[in-house]
Amino acid sequence: MSTYQERLDGARQALAEAGALLDRTTLPVGLADQLNAAASDTRRLFARFVAATAIVNPDLTPGGLPAAQTGKVHEVLARTIAAMPEFALCSHLRRAPGQPGVVRMALRRLDCHRCMATSVNPPPGEDDRCDWCGRHGITTFWPVSYTLGLILAYGDACGDCATGLVPDQSP
Ligand SMILES: [Zn+2]
Ligand SMILES: [Zn+2]
Repeated sequence: MSTYQERLDGARQALAEAGALLDRTTLPVGLADQLNAAASDTRRLFARFVAATAIVNPDLTPGGLPAAQTGKVHEVLARTIAAMPEFALCSHLRRAPGQPGVVRMALRRLDCHRCMATSVNPPPGEDDRCDWCGRHGITTFWPVSYTLGLILAYGDACGDCATGLVPDQSP
């Protein structure tokens, strides 16, 4: 299992490489090959990346990322992807990813609007865990929520993650 930081670095890199191709309509074959050739964690990250970006925006595929992505959106997207490798996906989003989804970070779930109404108990013993980076021992949490394409994400972040997710206001 990779660490949050490794996943974040991988997601940032994948997005930066995608973002560097603004004048192209498709990613080069080399990027997919490169990612396929990487370690198993990276392959897993890429699979999540593809799955997550398809949910965020059906137009976001490895074959064609929109040109209007900014660095800030990339950073939030990278941090969201990096936090989600073990998240459960509701069966509706699995079947039809192009619909709005809600990421309940504390529950590690990505649900459609119907399923977001279901109550799920958070995993036990996680009162001191940051919902993004997964660090334990956090005593001060910052409630963070944002929309990213078709998803709404919310949870409680440590100070470091809150600063990265909401860079315009230091907590
Ligand atoms: Zn659902
Ligand atoms: Zn954190």
